[in-house]
Amino acid sequence: AQTPVKVTVTGAAGQIGYALLFRIASGQLLGADVPVKLSLLEVPQAVKAAEGTAMELDDCAFPLLSGIEITDDPNVAFAGANVALLVGAMPRKAGMERGDLLEANGGIFGPQGKAINDNAADDIRVLVVGNPANTNALIAQQHAPDVPAERFTAMTRLDHNRALSQLAAKLQVPVTEIKKMTIWGNHSATQYPDLFHAEVGGKIAAEQVDEAWLRDTFIPTVAKRGAAIIEARGASSAASAANAAIDHVFDWVNGTEWTSAAIPSDGSYGVPEGIISSFPVASRGGRWEIIQGLEIDAFSRERIDASVRELVEERDAVRALGLI
Ligand code: NDP
Repeated sequence: AQTPVKVTVTGAAGQIGYALLFRIASGQLLGADVPVKLSLLEVPQAVKAAEGTAMELDDCAFPLLSGIEITDDPNVAFAGANVALLVGAMPRKAGMERGDLLEANGGIFGPQGKAINDNAADDIRVLVVGNPANTNALIAQQHAPDVPAERFTAMTRLDHNRALSQLAAKLQVPVTEIKKMTIWGNHSATQYPDLFHAEVGGKIAAEQVDEAWLRDTFIPTVAKRGAAIIEARGASSAASAANAAIDHVFDWVNGTEWTSAAIPSDGSYGVPEGIISSFPVASRGGRWEIIQGLEIDAFSRERIDASVRELVEERDAVRALGLI
């Protein structure tokens, strides 16, 4: 039998964790024939809740689930890990300054990066979901000098999926008709969902919608969808975030011709090397590759630059705080 793949989930007792763990255990993260071993990392006060979730996982009798470990020690959680989903983070509270937010997350993602560096398997792949995701991924990466930098990624797949769904509704086509969607930049309100390369029925999407809708409805709806869900549901999006994390890792491992993911920049498209920014990507042989050769029009250039500028500011801020 195949050796189980160890998947570590941080913030496992949280909302997203609850929506994520059952899907991992059922085989949706890696494939229906890949056994998994789960490691749940939580802060001490949430370990008991994680144990409750583990009891429910047991009660599903998932054929692919070979074991569950629950711990508050990152060195234990990441020991031999092949996939790490970093979901637990310090949320921005009312009145919190950006520096305080970054500092609090530096205290989480720095040690986790080091624990990954010291304990994870050689093929470790890291997806950061907890916000500010791109910069948290950068912090973790900078504390893991022995792990190839490209193994640290952040999630923009939920934004990507939201963009697909908004466009499909507008044009009244199934989401499967849409190809080459791209989210650029930061997973924040400055993100840029690009319809100038997306295709619907083989034709450029931006040419099938009016510019006012694209600019004043589509872009802000995608960027602010999280807030709209909080408003409607009374709680932040969790199942859709978990779904996007599943999509990201599945495609990373199993391959895809085109999606969006935040990965370390190699300088493509004028994005400064090293920052973890969302790009149009393919996955081949288990590695993300930035899709090259796209022409960037002036409208897109301005928006990509604005989001990238924000990422550079976040990087400079965590540098100034001594977090990287
Ligand atoms: P959630 O599970 O709802 O969210 C977890 C993180 O995901 C947040 O940072 C959230 O950011 C982020 N996120 C990213 N994309 C989305 C999205 N589309 N929708 C919603 N959230 C998104 O948080 P809970 O508070 O329910 O649970 C967090 C858990 O993490 C707690 O159990 C806590 O104990 C744990 N934790 C664990 C740590 C550890 O293992 N060392 C460290 C810190 C916390 P945002 O807030 O900006 O929405």
